[in-house]
Amino acid sequence: MDIQVLGVGEAADPSFANSSLIVAADGFRLMIDCGHSVPSALWREVPDPDAIDALYFTHHHPDHCFGLVPTLIRWTDDRRSKPLDIVTTVGGWKQLALLFQAGATDPERSLSFPLRWIETPENGTLGPFRLHTALTQHSMPNRAIRLETGGVAFAYSGDGRATPESEALFRGADLLFHECLTVEPDPVQPFHAAYSQLADFPMRLGVGEMRLYHVRTGERERLAAACAADPRVRLARPGERIVLPSVPPATGAMILS
Ligand SMILES: [Zn+2]
Repeated sequence: MDIQVLGVGEAADPSFANSSLIVAADGFRLMIDCGHSVPSALWREVPDPDAIDALYFTHHHPDHCFGLVPTLIRWTDDRRSKPLDIVTTVGGWKQLALLFQAGATDPERSLSFPLRWIETPENGTLGPFRLHTALTQHSMPNRAIRLETGGVAFAYSGDGRATPESEALFRGADLLFHECLTVEPDPVQPFHAAYSQLADFPMRLGVGEMRLYHVRTGERERLAAACAADPRVRLARPGERIVLPSVPPATGAMILS
């Protein structure tokens, strides 16, 4: 499994594109979220219009989905032909339909490739991945996602504070990307996570490594200092690539010679 980070920023971050990344395995590429400031990072990092096989939306705030229509228009200009799977909720699809309308884009007629809508499952498969999702505590429904393939597991929180369901989703993940707006919980932001609520995840949930993203502007240095003592935790960086090597299944047999 190969993770390519496109953006790590919060909604209105002046320095970083909105949080988004690509998870690839066996030649299949799943992009997670496509906010308003993501397209330029995507076009720069991944210029091939056929590179992305599927797009998953954690939720439908502008910093997670307003980049979709410009992205599809650019791919059409670049003659994409491959169908694109869009994995989201029924409510999310309705909102996307309004975005297409506002962007004078008819997904049936304006694009050079078909869109295929897949309703977000709690448990399912997508390309080479086993896929699981769970709700976090956010101001609109946000489904964190877990992807498993080749004996390794990657999880991504989307926005929001952890819930018992999302913690169960993250348990034992080799790599967890978690939203982390602040170091301490902000009483006026009950729908965003703070590091003090996440710090014990590596130990308590058996998470191998944790990357923090969607950090409040001006809070990155404090957060980096707060997590410096734990080598398993650090701030996600835009442009970084992380490879999770496949783990061969145990054969259950000893080879005797
Ligand atoms: Zn949000």
